[in-house]
Amino acid sequence: MNEKMLKVIGERNCYALANSKIKTFGFKNAKGLILNRCEGQIDTGKMMESLMILVRKNNITILTGITVTNIFDTGFAAIIETDIAEFSAKKVVVAINGFAKQLLNIKDVNPARAQVLITKPIKGLKIKGSFHYQQGYYYFRNINNRLLFGGARNLDIKGETSTDFKITAQIQKDLEKKLKHMILPNTPFEIDQRWAGIMGVGSEKKPIIKLVSKNIIAAVRMGGMGVAIGSIVGKEAAELANE
Ligand SMILES: Cc1cc2nc3c(=O)[nH]c(=O)nc-3n(C[C@H](O)[C@H](O)[C@H](O)COP(=O)(O)OP(=O)(O)OC[C@H]3O[C@@H](n4cnc5c(N)ncnc54)[C@H](O)[C@@H]3O)c2cc1C
Repeated sequence: MNEKMLKVIGERNCYALANSKIKTFGFKNAKGLILNRCEGQIDTGKMMESLMILVRKNNITILTGITVTNIFDTGFAAIIETDIAEFSAKKVVVAINGFAKQLLNIKDVNPARAQVLITKPIKGLKIKGSFHYQQGYYYFRNINNRLLFGGARNLDIKGETSTDFKITAQIQKDLEKKLKHMILPNTPFEIDQRWAGIMGVGSEKKPIIKLVSKNIIAAVRMGGMGVAIGSIVGKEAAELANE
């Protein structure tokens, strides 16, 4: 993997066993923990705020709280049926990721729920960086002086193949146990929030960006990388719409 990363971003040793950090950060039973030195720590709240500013500056209207029930192509335009009204557009980009099958005839995208928790601020938190564990099924990072921890969908792949924004006791308990015994064994903490998000995954770790009919473009299957690749996927989808 390090060789592949060297070719792509020109950095050596992006991934390394986090052994040296085990003592520094006080981890316990953390054999096989991997530190990704090249991974950025984006504040996704600020990212979305910047996107909204850009959208408003360009006089683009955003409609929220509406469910699209059907999209079809007349050959001259795309028709978007919703729970409040029907719209038509010259071109439509459908970017609903893990929900793709609900509106598009696309087979190779499935929902993959991922559950997360975040601690309350921890005084003197030493952990800094982004860490991956157990084939990437677990991920944690600091956000200032809080610890964000997510994963464990490997414990119930079938149950987590869902578009339902729900958290489950099995996964939340496992996250909490690992947080207590592995990541923060000597530090008292309190959980502030827990939530779930839906990813779009398939047989390939590549997004689908394609015309599904003359006027409808799919830009889905972000495979857990949508924050990193979302803007380039959007650009490529827009180029398809403008062809
Ligand atoms: C816990 C977790 C951690 C992650 N960590 C990372 C990370 O570290 N780095 C990274 O790059 N990516 C990460 N991702 C993945 C990233 O969040 C997603 O790939 C990205 O949000 C996808 O963006 P999107 O706009 O394509 O889809 P989404 O954010 O899923 O947006 C799709 C929207 O469409 C709406 N929708 C669906 N169907 C309809 C309908 N019929 N009518 C109206 N609206 C509809 C949904 O409600 C949703 O709001 C993570 C995801 C999760 C869940």
